[in-house]
Amino acid sequence: MDFELPAEHPARTTVREWLAEHPTPTPRELADAGYVVPHWPKPWGLDADPIEQLLISDELKRANIARPVNPIGIGHCGPILVMHGSDAQKNRFIPPMLAAEEIWCQLFSEPGSGSDLAGVSTRVEKTDDGWIVNGQKVWTSLAHDAAFGILLARTNPDVPKHQGLSYFLIDMKTPGVEVRPLVEMTGDHLFNEVFFTDVHIPRDAIIGDEGNGWNMARDTLDNERVTLSRAGLQWGWGPTAEDLVQVARDAGGVKDPVLKMRLVDAYIEHEIIRIHGLRMVAAAVSGRPGPEASLRKALSDPHGQKTFILSKDLAGANGMLLESGPLGADPMWWSRGFLFAPALTIGGGTSEVLRNVIAERMLGLPREREEDADKPWSQAHRRSSTK
Ligand SMILES: Cc1cc2nc3c(=O)[nH]c(=O)nc-3n(C[C@H](O)[C@H](O)[C@H](O)COP(=O)(O)OP(=O)(O)OC[C@H]3O[C@@H](n4cnc5c(N)ncnc54)[C@H](O)[C@@H]3O)c2cc1C
Repeated sequence: MDFELPAEHPARTTVREWLAEHPTPTPRELADAGYVVPHWPKPWGLDADPIEQLLISDELKRANIARPVNPIGIGHCGPILVMHGSDAQKNRFIPPMLAAEEIWCQLFSEPGSGSDLAGVSTRVEKTDDGWIVNGQKVWTSLAHDAAFGILLARTNPDVPKHQGLSYFLIDMKTPGVEVRPLVEMTGDHLFNEVFFTDVHIPRDAIIGDEGNGWNMARDTLDNERVTLSRAGLQWGWGPTAEDLVQVARDAGGVKDPVLKMRLVDAYIEHEIIRIHGLRMVAAAVSGRPGPEASLRKALSDPHGQKTFILSKDLAGANGMLLESGPLGADPMWWSRGFLFAPALTIGGGTSEVLRNVIAERMLGLPREREEDADKPWSQAHRRSSTK
């Protein structure tokens, strides 16, 4: 796990030469050069191997150049378009996605289908010139900023649930699409409810084949888990257990022996997750990507919560106040982190569902038995909604 990157390498030279010609690149220039997603195939990326990817990131960082941010577009939707989209879809949608000129959202979860995503009820019916969408989605992050969304919906209710799904891209400005905000306990507005009432979308809005939506949805969720467990992140957002140790040091230590033990425990977990991140990079560099992403999400999301609960306990009774940080430290980061951390053991697959994924796909344990899985969705759905 020695990640001393080579000081000289053809990939470094190429980026340096490009930066000399583009000292302040626009997001579109970065996208066109392949530097937003160097690991994607050409022409969107550079087919870069892991070492080249690390070197490109290192050179951009040294030049203080940030990549465009379009997390759901670039992280979840883009790879699906690359794999399954038509040439016309790729050429139209990928360049502005990579430059973050058009933000994307993911229209999967519904009030009755979150973990059981294959049970979605939103209906898409074929018309002479396209499709009509009716239904409701929920927890749709960034729908209020999004120009486009990927939509998982039911095109055939008369076959078992996994077989009747298709995957669409939808212009969020289409008449009949209504986005209603949901405000989180942090006070932020990240996600939304989205309602579809007789929304007419064109025939070429489908991605891949009709009825093949479940396979693409599974690939999207795999991409999401990788995005959510990037090697450089300890838990997803904001300060870490290492920062908390520094706060304790600056405050002259922690007197309470139990709090001190919990601080040490948090630090040990932090180190395990950090070293696990290095293993993820090592596995990628050696071309042996493994189960690391799912394991990492399972470890790091609860770790974030534990760290923030400890930060509040270190603040004492004042920890109940939003304006109170641990041991007198800047309260803003700690309070926001405390309120946001619970979201991460739900979003991108709950901790329980993640354990099912690990059990079935990594440990080879038998699949969960699902009553009605082979029955047509319309029959099974009628049964479950009258239970
Ligand atoms: C911050 C955040 C952002 C999100 N962004 C998006 C987004 O952009 N687009 C989108 O489509 N969705 C989004 N979601 C929704 C998210 O994917 C769902 O909340 C998640 O999949 C869980 O579904 P649910 O809320 O319906 O809970 P449910 O599926 O109803 O689960 C309820 C409880 O039952 C447990 N459970 C369910 N099934 C099983 C099982 N088989 N075995 C064991 N336990 C089980 C769960 O673990 C959970 O504790 C987001 C959620 C969050 C928190």
